[in-house]
Amino acid sequence: MSENRRQIIAANWKMNLTVGQGKKLVNHILEEKDLPCDLVFAPPFTHLSEIKKSITDRDKVFLAAQNCHHESNGAYTGEISTVMLEDMGVQMVIVGHSERRQLFGDTGKWINQKIKACLSRNLQPIFCFGEKLDQREQNQHFETVRKQLNEGLSNLSEAQIQDVIFAYEPVWAIGTGHTATPGQAEEMHQFVRKEISSTSTDQVARSVPILYGGSVKPANASELLHCPNIDGALVGGASLKAKDFLAIVEAVV
Ligand code: PEP
Repeated sequence: MSENRRQIIAANWKMNLTVGQGKKLVNHILEEKDLPCDLVFAPPFTHLSEIKKSITDRDKVFLAAQNCHHESNGAYTGEISTVMLEDMGVQMVIVGHSERRQLFGDTGKWINQKIKACLSRNLQPIFCFGEKLDQREQNQHFETVRKQLNEGLSNLSEAQIQDVIFAYEPVWAIGTGHTATPGQAEEMHQFVRKEISSTSTDQVARSVPILYGGSVKPANASELLHCPNIDGALVGGASLKAKDFLAIVEAVV
């Protein structure tokens, strides 16, 4: 992890926990007074206002939504807009998660629209991308990620790209227990930084945080988090247990 870049450990709860369970989990995690990096909690929409109360007044702790719609308002039954999220005090939004792409049909175009919608409000997108297992086996992982980056960042200004938090999440590693090796992850993060540099500038590419996600747990966190181009983790399963999540947070140092 580079010393100059922002370091972030983000918890993606997905569709798990009740409000009460979520509050208990956050309160337990925040008993840790000396946080070595920024923490992000991404609970389900229904939990946002209560979790906001638990994290208010804590430095370095941020609230994220797991998705958004790109329009501000309108006839989109069941959807939540960035205007509504900002109004609730949300600060970040996960965009382009592989579960959204695979199960809910999120396309590159939509992801780009969602990123733009976040940036037009005061919301930082956590932009997820990553290849599937067959794409890695056929040596198409770099091409796949290049395409996803080009789609997601299409028509964004340098200043806008500077505000994006990137998250490389190989689909074959999400929720499977199969983690990318530090070598595989670092190689892709270097590639992503190069791609960002060709879309914007070297300075932007060097300064944006790129998180790794995919079965991060206490046992593998330290090795991954100490790779020079990995600036933190997006954590699913292991973010649901305070002890595991805190062990990952502590692995940052
Ligand atoms: C995720 O959902 O973004 C994720 C990385 O999940 P897990 O840590 O469970 O693989």
